[in-house]
Parts: sequence; C-alpha cells; structure tokens
Amino acid sequence: MHGLESGAGTESVSAWIKRQIRRDEIERYLDGGKDFIDEGHIERTLASNVQAPADRIRGILQKARSIKLLDDADVAALATVTDPELRQEVLAAAHEIKTAVYDNRVVTFAPLYCGSKCVNNCRYCGFRSDNSAVQRRSLGMDEVEAEARVLAGKIGHKRLVMVYGEHPDTGADYIADSVRRVYAVKEKVRSGVGEIRRVNINAAPMSIADLVKIREAGIGTYQVFQETYHKATYRFVHPEGTLKGDYHWRLYCLHRAMEAGIDDVAIGALFGLYDWRFEVMGLVAHARDLERRFGVGPHTVSVPRLEPAAGTDFSWVGHWVSDDDFRYLIAVLRVSIPYAGLIVTNREKPDMLRSVIGMCTQRDADTRVGLGAYADAFSGSDEQKAERQQFMLGDTRSLDQIVRELASMGHIVSFCTAGYRCGRTGKKIMDALRCGSEGHLCKLNAILTFQEWLEDFASPDTRLAGEAIIERELSEVQLRVPGDFSQAAFEHLVDARKRIMAGERDLYF
Ligand code: SAM
Ligand code: SF4
Repeated sequence: MHGLESGAGTESVSAWIKRQIRRDEIERYLDGGKDFIDEGHIERTLASNVQAPADRIRGILQKARSIKLLDDADVAALATVTDPELRQEVLAAAHEIKTAVYDNRVVTFAPLYCGSKCVNNCRYCGFRSDNSAVQRRSLGMDEVEAEARVLAGKIGHKRLVMVYGEHPDTGADYIADSVRRVYAVKEKVRSGVGEIRRVNINAAPMSIADLVKIREAGIGTYQVFQETYHKATYRFVHPEGTLKGDYHWRLYCLHRAMEAGIDDVAIGALFGLYDWRFEVMGLVAHARDLERRFGVGPHTVSVPRLEPAAGTDFSWVGHWVSDDDFRYLIAVLRVSIPYAGLIVTNREKPDMLRSVIGMCTQRDADTRVGLGAYADAFSGSDEQKAERQQFMLGDTRSLDQIVRELASMGHIVSFCTAGYRCGRTGKKIMDALRCGSEGHLCKLNAILTFQEWLEDFASPDTRLAGEAIIERELSEVQLRVPGDFSQAAFEHLVDARKRIMAGERDLYF
C-alpha cells in the first residue's frame, strides 16, 4: 500500500485534499500581498554583517541578556562568525542565557507516531507517498492507548509529542480522538498513577475550524516546522500540486493556530535543506511576525537535522550541516530568541546531545519512531525497523539512563506540566520567563515532579544520582530565601517532598 490510499469514510483522498487549503486563511495575513520572509533582505543582511568585529559581537551578546528577540542585523552578525574563539564566546553566552531563563532544568518527552500514511511527497521523508519501502498504516485507538500505557506506565513519561502524517485517515477528528485517548490513560505504577499530563502535536497545517477541534481536545503546543524558509528550496523538496507544496499555507498555520486560541506554538527548520544561516534568519523572522501580530512568539524552536530514511535518496542534499556548525547554530538561536525553549532530539547521537543540552530546554528520551514500537519494545522486539519509521534514530537510550546522565551533568529533569494546567501559557508564560518569575515556580515544581518520578520509576543507581541533585536544589532554594523565595514557600516545598515520598502525587505550586 502506498501513502495515498484511504481506509476512512467514503470521500476520496483527492476530494479531501481539495478541501484542505483555504485561500482566505492565507491572504488575510499577507501585507500588501507579501509574506514576512523577504529573501533579498535576508541575503543582503547576512552579506553586510559578515566579519563583524569582536566588540560588536560582545555588544550583541550583552543585548541578548535582556531576553528580547534580537534584530536581523545582529542575528546575521552572530550567524556569520567563523573565528573559533569568538564562536566559543557565543556558545558560552548561549549557556549562560539558557541558565538565566530556564536554570538547570531539562524537560523530557517522547514522540508518539500515530500514522505513516501521507499524501505529500517530501523528498527527504521516509513517509512520502511514492516511497514503497515503508509500510503504511495508522494506529487504531486501542493501539494508541497501548502505546500510551507503555509510555506512562512503564517508562514514566508525562509529556508526549504526537506525530501524524498528512492524510484523511489521520485528520483533525482522528487527532482530537487520539489525544483524548492518551489523556484518559491511568496506569498503576509503584506507588502512584502513571499518566500523560501534556500532549503536544506535530501535525500538518490545518484550517482554523480544524485547529479549534484539536484545541478542544486539550493539546499543549502545536508544532509545525517550515522545514526551509528558502522558497526555491521549498519548491524543490515539496513537489508542486501536493498540499505541503503550498509554502504560504504552511508559513501561516501558526498564525491560524493563534486565532483558533492555541497560544503555545512551535517553529522549526529541517537543517540540511538550505544554508543554515538563512534558516536561522527565517526562524527569527517567523518569531518576530508572531510577536508583532499576537504579542507572543514561539513557545519552542526545534532544530531537526536531516537523517537517513528507508528508500530515500539524499544525493541532492547540498547543505549538510557539520557538527561544529550544528552546535554553533543552536547557540545563535539560543541567543537570538532568548525566551523560547529549544528542542533537540534523538535524531542526534549521545555525544552531540551531551554537548548541546546546556543550551537547550527539551530533549526526547527512550524514543521509538516506528508505529506501535513502544508496545513492541515491551513485548521483546526492540530493534529499529527502517521500513516502519520516518528516519533512523541516533540515541535510543532509556529515560532512566538519560535522567542519570543529566543528573551527573548537574541538570534536573523536570516532569512539570503545572504551568500549562494553571493557564500559564502564551503571553503570560513569555512575560514571566522574561522577568524570571516563571523560573522560580518552575524550580520548585521541577523538584517535586522529579521526586515523584524517582519514587515511581527510577532504578537504584538513578535514584541515588537524582536524590543528590534534589538535595543540592533544596539547599539552593534555601539560600535564596528571602530574596527569590519566601520562607513559607521553602517550608511548603520540604513538606510537599515528604508527602510525595509517602505516596501523594501531583503536588505543585
Ligand atoms: N507530516 C507532518 C509535517 O510534515 O508537518 C508532521 C510531521 S513529520 C512526521 C515531522 C518532522 O520530521 C518534519 O516536520 C520534518 O522536519 C522531520 N523530518 C522528516 N524527514 C526527516 C528526515 N529524513 N530526517 C530528519 N527529520 C525529518
Ligand atoms: Fe508527510 Fe510530513 Fe513526511 Fe512530508 S514530512 S512526507 S508531510 S510525514
């Protein structure tokens, strides 16, 4: 079966495709018929800021410490630095800014792939419709539940990113149903209940009406990566006549999401398709347009890098990103959009992940990208199967191992989802991040949710490493009384931790 066949309903796939794109939901955002990616301006700005003197770069890093989006000329100056020592200064500032805004917290999640059927034909993706090397199917709701039971009950995840191909079998109604099914899972674990508390979505652009449907199912962040902001490259990798071939439908889908009331949106570029400096400028332009129109920028920025995929030729790729450039582009993004979370994934190998995690806020763990692969992993068949997945993974270590490694590096894994559940989203969370107040609450909640995870899921070694981090965090909070925390908050924290150790769950500030 290829990616174009449908098992759902009576409507043909081509009729479904025809009703997806609404011109009026693109045109309303254009300014005088123009979008916000001015390629001439990006190229000129990159060219005219090459070889900026060290003093200017240091001045830009100073500006970034005020946690505001940098202007184009400054981003271009950072992106075009080649001097290794100056690059080191940018990397150091990126680590410092990450710590100032998000402290030593790292959030972990797992992707849950729900379908490999897709009507598009993206040149780089194993799920593209003309690829016969990949098996096609979408998970039934019982299978979605089975995956969630493993993720929540055996591995201990609290957050997922559910991932969907673009296909009528996995359209907005399916997405909404599958999200509800995941939230309903409650698994008995050692002394508590394993449950997914936040479901983010990575799915194709939708109309405002469909976005309202998925918002009502309680999605967290809506992620859509533009893949490349460079229009000729976009056309080359996304064939004309496919849904994804419409650059503007994709470029404005997060604008539509904001209108649909989804105020946590996430941008990203697939690094390797075009010059990474151009893509960084495109991501910043995207963040700026969201800020300008809705007063809130992207909640996160993702940096996927091209990976091999079954049945997929990559001989056309002209912009592979080297490891050094990849680390550096993460630093430039960290400094340029300082308030946004930065997500790095298990497409990368452990060494790379270790070297960039200090600039990032989220990573996945215990990841399987094959359909139904979490349930498989716990029934004895655990290898990656190229024909069942979109691309191959660089890091397949367990969440327990990752938590232990992060603890040994001084990071605390936060399983907190309280901010979202208390309505601290969109502009509210962004303002709080800028002034540091969200960070204070997050620090306390990270401690409590980490303790909870250690109780319910950690191996003995990971528990030891985790308890050491918690003790260190508690001393730090105590030292910051009464400046950043009240004595009452500290006492409440110590008491809540004891209650968690005695079996209570889901306590947060
Ligand atoms: N079909 C939806 C779409 O295209 O937006 C949903 C997600 S797609 C399954 C998730 C992301 O995987 C894409 O946005 C793309 O950035 C990334 N991706 C696709 N092929 C890849 C590859 N060969 N290597 C690394 N990332 C890839
Ligand atoms: Fe389909 Fe998304 Fe893969 Fe493109 S990247 S072929 S839209 S699943």
